[in-house]
Amino acid sequence: MHLYLHVPFCARRCTYCDFAIAVRRDVPSDAYVDAVLREWTLRQTDPVWDASPEVRTIYFGGGTPSRVTPASIGRMLERIAADRTIAADAEITLEANPEDVTGSAAAAWRAFGVNRVSLGVQSFDPTVLQWMHRTHTAAQVPEAVDAIRSSGIEDLSLDLIFGLPTALGRDWRADLAHAFALQPEHLSLYGLTVEAHTPLGHWTDRGEVAPVDEDRYAAEFLLAHDALGAHGYEHYEISNAGRPGHRARHNSAYWRRAPFVGLGPAAHSGMGNERRWNVREWSAYQRLLASGNSPLEGREFLDAAAVTLEELYLGLRTVEGLALQRVPAPLARQWVQAGWATEAEGRVRLTAEGWLRLDALVPSIAT
Ligand code: SF4
Repeated sequence: MHLYLHVPFCARRCTYCDFAIAVRRDVPSDAYVDAVLREWTLRQTDPVWDASPEVRTIYFGGGTPSRVTPASIGRMLERIAADRTIAADAEITLEANPEDVTGSAAAAWRAFGVNRVSLGVQSFDPTVLQWMHRTHTAAQVPEAVDAIRSSGIEDLSLDLIFGLPTALGRDWRADLAHAFALQPEHLSLYGLTVEAHTPLGHWTDRGEVAPVDEDRYAAEFLLAHDALGAHGYEHYEISNAGRPGHRARHNSAYWRRAPFVGLGPAAHSGMGNERRWNVREWSAYQRLLASGNSPLEGREFLDAAAVTLEELYLGLRTVEGLALQRVPAPLARQWVQAGWATEAEGRVRLTAEGWLRLDALVPSIAT
């Protein structure tokens, strides 16, 4: 069993973000924990617990989980541990923004059981951070890393975004070098996507921002792939790389289609072929739970074709790849010849060049 807790609060919305967030200057930490623990109580009868009783990973994602008080994180973990068995070696991750990471906050997270922090860095360039409407400065990143290291939390992941508009003049190579210098165990590298109904989407619609072109996007992705290898990181999933033994176990569970329970506004759950999701807005989520109702908004059952498509995508986005028999032989040969895949030990694995074409390659074998 894998648990995801969505903490929706952010100080303001970043220009590119279309996540389910609630912008709050004063974060209602106690009200949030009350609501989540009510949902937790309701979820104890989920049949998924019969098959998977032990909690192997817990992930506080957001939003910005570092904006609720550390004591709130403690309350949630204590309650989970009281009701369920948390594996002795469970991975417990908290997403944090650099400006929230103080020595005392990190020490408290560690004391409550958090053993991995995923830090939202995105860039070390002040101009870029300002353009993104990020709330931290570049100088706050090494300070946050020091605080995390001093607390005894040994697993640190940094998030960076590539594929920014060329006009920003962002030096991707320099940002990667800054990240490597901090020696994180793990790096997540996401390509910027322009989502409708975000400030970036509006700027793009009005012609004020030109998205990066495909060639530059590809060049930055491939540059990162090579640099990761040169610095001892295994690029084990299209957006993730870790030092040996430091793959993200929570996300890896999603890619294996393991069962997971999501709590909080907009959180999704998955058990076998069933998918459920909660109402998106924090205020609606809180109201429903305060009146004793479930925050569940919808559920669906994936049919065989949807399961197959999901398995193909999830397999090909990781270095595990797919069993050879799942890829028609002529296509596998074509991919290998083009440099998009390798074939070994009965498996087809996409290369970095192949990952750039994932969305085109999967449909070609799904039909
Ligand atoms: S901090 Fe993260 S979740 Fe919050 S607005 Fe920015 S990108 Fe979105």
